[in-house]
Amino acid sequence: MRQLQRHLCMIAMSLAALSSAQAAPLVEPTLHIKPAASGAGRVALTLDACGGQTDTRILSALVENKIPATIFVTGIWLKRNAAAVEIMQAHRDLFELENHGGRHVPAVDTPQKIYGIRSAGSPDAVLAEVESGAAALARTGEPAPKWFRGATAEYSPSAIAMIRKLGFKIAGFSINGDGGSLLGAKETAKRIAAAKDGDVIIAHINQPTHAAGEGVVKGLLALKDKGMTFVRLDDADGTGNHGTTD
Ligand SMILES: [Zn+2]
Repeated sequence: MRQLQRHLCMIAMSLAALSSAQAAPLVEPTLHIKPAASGAGRVALTLDACGGQTDTRILSALVENKIPATIFVTGIWLKRNAAAVEIMQAHRDLFELENHGGRHVPAVDTPQKIYGIRSAGSPDAVLAEVESGAAALARTGEPAPKWFRGATAEYSPSAIAMIRKLGFKIAGFSINGDGGSLLGAKETAKRIAAAKDGDVIIAHINQPTHAAGEGVVKGLLALKDKGMTFVRLDDADGTGNHGTTD
């Protein structure tokens, strides 16, 4: 009897080792654009609209200063922010809208929590998140998105492979501008103003009450003053790691 127990225990232990080996660690891919051939350099500004509202401080500054940006929108955000979408669509030369998922669920195909957000949890749920995000953009009259960025910007390697198979490139970043919109204005401005030729900046455009938004505007204007050019992801040659763009 005791031996049987020990045997069962061994089986349980090896099963546990097997399942933890299968849950590959999550990755947070980087993305860079091709540096400018000459001049002060160029950067890509990407702004996430996860849910919630619109930070009109940022939106107005982009329009007034003619700063192009790639906006990653969710289905949830599109539904609640028609006025902001209208402004973006009225300035197609500035704004490119891309896929941030239908419901802002991390593109991770095993059940877990990332920054407190529950992951999609299965391959089917990852596909549903990506496809419903694209469908929401289509309903808004947008051209088919080419880029995807999952909620939290973390992925399981198997989810990356699935998303690539659907035809999307995955948008990492090289500068975390606003720390998930939780940084202060000063630190946010400093991080963004420090962008170098070829960098891809991530920040948020959906938290109008956060101090970070003020810093986003300051940082962008500092880059513009330095003569930096802004490009959208569709207009740049973006290269990411972890098989996100190749
Ligand atoms: Zn988000």
